[in-house]
Amino acid sequence: MQQLINKNSIKEKSVVIISGGLDSTTLLYDIISQGYDVYALSFNYNQRHKKELLYAQKTCKKLGIPHKIVDISNLNELLQGSSLTSSDISTPHGKYDEESMKQTVVPNRNMILLSIAAGYAISLKATKLFYGAHSGDHSVYPDCRPEFIQKLKETIAIADWHKVELLAPYSDMDKGDIVIRGIELKVPYQDTWSCYEGGDIPCSKCGACNERAEAFQKAEIKDPLGENV
Ligand SMILES: [Zn+2]
Repeated sequence: MQQLINKNSIKEKSVVIISGGLDSTTLLYDIISQGYDVYALSFNYNQRHKKELLYAQKTCKKLGIPHKIVDISNLNELLQGSSLTSSDISTPHGKYDEESMKQTVVPNRNMILLSIAAGYAISLKATKLFYGAHSGDHSVYPDCRPEFIQKLKETIAIADWHKVELLAPYSDMDKGDIVIRGIELKVPYQDTWSCYEGGDIPCSKCGACNERAEAFQKAEIKDPLGENV
């Protein structure tokens, strides 16, 4: 019993947002490897590629960590205008540097998700809240920019008497660097889903598929998802 108490007292609690994609899954393995007591959180905002949540579930089950999927799909009717949440807007094909990719921005998504996650972290008395924004996101997603992260970090820190620190440790890394880190951590990438279309197999045409392919190219390994679908 004494040993158990000591063990618990040295582990710092943290909340990690996991979408089921490559970045957040790598981040989850990374944070666990750093010895945190991790609580994973995912969101169902009725995204077209809801399938990613099954991958998040699989990862957390495999790692034996607590995982909650918050259903905020009711918000969907307020968060229109994005191909990820509006069924009448088709998913743009191509690369992320194209203007059309801005159609995949869900209005204020990260602030909404991080606000909920911060509340969860406060209630758990966790000290850290992690999310997997990376440098490739900056040009398309305004809520992945370093200035957004910095401002929200300051706000979350004063949201309650219990202080939670928001961290996005991959915000200066591109997806290729993240895969390279993931290889060190032995992340099973067949357990991750990126494609925005959310079909039976990755479409290989959307921004998420293209970016994923480039990341594996940079890391000089084959995407194991291709062998398992
Ligand atoms: Zn795709």
